[in-house]
Amino acid sequence: MTNVNEILEYVKSQSTADKKLISHAFSFAEKVHRGQKRFSGEPYLEHVAETTKTLARLNMDAKTIAAGLLHDTLEDSSVTKEELEKEFGEEIVFLVRGVTKLGKYEYKGLERHAESLRQFLLATSKDVRVLIIRLADRIHNMKTLEHVRPEKQKRIALETLEIYAPLAHRLGMGQIKGELEDLAFPYVYPKEYKETLDLLKQKSIENQKYLQKVYRSLQKELIKENIKPIKTDYRIKHLYSLYKKLKRYDMDIDKIHDIAALRIIVQTVDDCYRILGITHNMWRPLPGRIKDYIATPKPNGYQSLHTTIFTGDGGIAEIQMRTEEMHDEAEYGIASHLGFKENVKRQKGNPLKKKLTWIVQLAEWQKHIAKSEEFLDDLKMDFFRDRVFVFTPDGDVIDLPEDSSTIDFAYAIHSDIGDHIAGAKVNEKLVSLDTKLKNGDKVEIITKRSASPTTKWLLHIKTTLARKHIKSALQKNN
Ligand code: MN
Repeated sequence: MTNVNEILEYVKSQSTADKKLISHAFSFAEKVHRGQKRFSGEPYLEHVAETTKTLARLNMDAKTIAAGLLHDTLEDSSVTKEELEKEFGEEIVFLVRGVTKLGKYEYKGLERHAESLRQFLLATSKDVRVLIIRLADRIHNMKTLEHVRPEKQKRIALETLEIYAPLAHRLGMGQIKGELEDLAFPYVYPKEYKETLDLLKQKSIENQKYLQKVYRSLQKELIKENIKPIKTDYRIKHLYSLYKKLKRYDMDIDKIHDIAALRIIVQTVDDCYRILGITHNMWRPLPGRIKDYIATPKPNGYQSLHTTIFTGDGGIAEIQMRTEEMHDEAEYGIASHLGFKENVKRQKGNPLKKKLTWIVQLAEWQKHIAKSEEFLDDLKMDFFRDRVFVFTPDGDVIDLPEDSSTIDFAYAIHSDIGDHIAGAKVNEKLVSLDTKLKNGDKVEIITKRSASPTTKWLLHIKTTLARKHIKSALQKNN
């Protein structure tokens, strides 16, 4: 049975007030969940404690940790909002309410589900810690999913893949995203899961042998050049992300070169580029595989240098270089900007603000969709599908669902541009309007006042935004 010290062990803060708050929340949760059991037969408090340990591992502040301990008190016990507020104050109650489902009596079934999700996104747009508690909660629910009724298992796992993992991804929480996807994978695609696991087992051993050899040679060179990495490890690709990639390559594992990658974490950005130079001096790189995400970060904030090399003995290996800050950003994303920090590192720009803009947009967008069913479908379609990132001629990034066309792009810029598309250029070449956009494409839209949407356009778009505008323009013209 968990006790409060087990939680406190994970908490970095040494403040007495913080520890007192956490202990108070722990005994409160212990009291209200007493006698309650999970489907697994475990005491309910175990779920609450595991959720909270994840929050502590993510370095969250004491209030979030307390809210983690209390996160199910409003939903699953007789405690009222007023009682909770009297004990713990407004801020903690806001966090707890944000992750609480709406009442069973006011809403039913799908509607309860959709409206709860709406409320959760709205609360998240006001305080992103709501989302982090929800993700930590989901991780433990997924770990114990085997105890849930089989017909519910798949629904919960699918929701994890369609909503929660993409949310974590868009906020740059790579570690949490990978964990959620891998926990959900066997429930949603059992056959494919086994197949991918077998392929991974076969391949990753072979792959790591090449990497180890590469690293031994590289290490000697780094010593000569006086570069001291902080940490080096072999990262194995998450299973579900490997599966998604395999699908793009007809399940041919020999076409995938980053099953295992050598990851070198260094002190400075300068060191990253120096190691890249040294690497290319020693081995021939595969053309088109050098990615400079330091100069051009991914839109979710990810930064690193990647290269893939021929190892000379028939192998191919991927090497990644990044600083410690970049590493934290890649693994913990938005969580690395929140909560308790031992030594606050100042970062360039404000990635946190940029990420939050997106959640605020999401919360705004949901207000315009009245029906629960529509809301859930559009949410999955527009916000959480795999995305492509394309550029305007000015270099602004526009992010669209996969398989979007130049028409989707035009409407994403402005409805007026969408309504008057006469032609489009992708990477300086004229293309037809139904052209599907790929990551990194530079797109330019040519407009003419006399041009207007046709019904055919509806066949070539992916975004609800474009659909809405085209339909209303068609109605006006009729
Ligand atoms: Mn829970």
